[in-house]
Amino acid sequence: MADPLLRQVLPVDAEQQVVPGFSLDAVGDGAAKKADGVIQKYRGRALLVATGSCAVNCRYCFRRHFPYADETAARDGWAGAVASIAADPTIDEVILSGGDPLSLATPKLAELTAQLASIPHIRRLRIHSRLPVVLPERVDAALLQWLSALPWPVAFVIHANHANEFDASVDAALAALRGAGVQLLNKAVLLRGVNDSVEALAALSTRSFAAGVLPYYLHQLDRVEGVAHFEVPDDEARALHAALAARLSGYLVPKLVREVGRYRQAPAVTP
Ligand code: SF4
Repeated sequence: MADPLLRQVLPVDAEQQVVPGFSLDAVGDGAAKKADGVIQKYRGRALLVATGSCAVNCRYCFRRHFPYADETAARDGWAGAVASIAADPTIDEVILSGGDPLSLATPKLAELTAQLASIPHIRRLRIHSRLPVVLPERVDAALLQWLSALPWPVAFVIHANHANEFDASVDAALAALRGAGVQLLNKAVLLRGVNDSVEALAALSTRSFAAGVLPYYLHQLDRVEGVAHFEVPDDEARALHAALAARLSGYLVPKLVREVGRYRQAPAVTP
């Protein structure tokens, strides 16, 4: 149970504890719904819940209670989601999320992006996926071809919380993604017992960079029911982040953030 990788996926009794302040929808997804499968919390960016499927079952998952059966953009062949984005010219970035969007077959992803390509005000695509880290085989020739042919610059945000999540097969998948022209970034979650030390966070940043991935965000835990045992208090998080900044070059220090509600511009937790 002390293993930082096992701890992320092993169910434990502590998940059953009811803890005040932890709720089913801690990040306000319901209130930020724009259309079925489309969430907008920040100006200019719309998040598309491409699928409810994911290759992992992270025990701290922020959408572990999300009603995927009702809220998946793919349900009507993307029509409703694409129409809602097309109707709002202030949106210039679409974020493919989930679940994990790479759980979809590549032809399905291509079907979606072909529809998005008809919207002139989209300038960037962002993809959030943990699959290159947990299932590097998913980065195959068809996926790379799809990425290479996209009409927008692509930010590809992987999700690794510990340096031990990288190995040679992950490095190869990430190198192939870079070869397809995407900008690789890493989003990590600060998790008690996984990466709650300066040493672990520094190792994660330097290992990510060695694999061609810039540290992007260090998220404070989203307070969904069943995850309280992973929480690191804000004061401790700020202290860890300050110590990390004192140790590493600036480009290796991710922003410390907390997900907040609709249209808030600034991270709620900063150093
Ligand atoms: S990879 Fe992301 S979506 Fe999938 S279970 Fe983990 S946190 Fe949730």
